[in-house]
Amino acid sequence: MLQRAYREGVRTILSIGIGEGPDTMHQALELSRHYAGRPGIPRIVVSAGIHPHEAQLADQPALDKLDRLLASPEVIAVGEIGLDYFYDHSPREQQKQVFTQQMEIAAAHRKPIIIHCRPSEGSTNAWDDTLALIEAQWSATSLGGILHCFTGEWTHAQRAMDCGFLISFAGNVTFPKAESIRDAAARVPQESMLIETDAPFLAPVPYRGKRNEPAWVARVADKVAEVRGVPAETIACSTANNFFRFFGIAPQDKP
Ligand SMILES: [Zn+2]
Repeated sequence: MLQRAYREGVRTILSIGIGEGPDTMHQALELSRHYAGRPGIPRIVVSAGIHPHEAQLADQPALDKLDRLLASPEVIAVGEIGLDYFYDHSPREQQKQVFTQQMEIAAAHRKPIIIHCRPSEGSTNAWDDTLALIEAQWSATSLGGILHCFTGEWTHAQRAMDCGFLISFAGNVTFPKAESIRDAAARVPQESMLIETDAPFLAPVPYRGKRNEPAWVARVADKVAEVRGVPAETIACSTANNFFRFFGIAPQDKP
């Protein structure tokens, strides 16, 4: 899978370290170390964090584990953290508390945050709460963050960009019914945009229904390029450059 990504031009992967919950949130870091320095395989950098689904598992040992993981240089961000009112796997008040606690840990380590946000059906409730918490608890750090797998309205993207966030588009930008996501992908300034897969979820057209994988980020680039009327290479280069600039890491072994 990593070799397939490399052959599509992927040279660096940010692997999301949420595991199946706090017990396994170190596994992305293990993956990064396991594959470090191997030829023909993308470099892997990682995040660590407690997903809002698992907020109710965020006891003190779990938060201490996150704090320890952030001491590793390979761990460049805290996430996915945020609020999910669609599934409500954890109580909303607990989700907000754990989101805030993780912002405090991220701030102490001077590392940005990656936001997962999904409101109830037909509502913007989780966006309202997520952005209010970012504005109150996070924007003063000037560390910024990423809105991953953006599905919100344009005003949500604007409020996040005002707080120094990048807006990241995933495989669902290719879905036939995703007009509002494509509208946002057409409007986000080039210097504020990222692309991702959200693998193993949201496999892009023409791979829908399959397990998503990093190589297919190229299909996301194709679709974003199409809606913006530019070559796919432009999107590939600008989003890669945005990533390296935002995280302050050097691009290495670029295609
Ligand atoms: Zn997510």
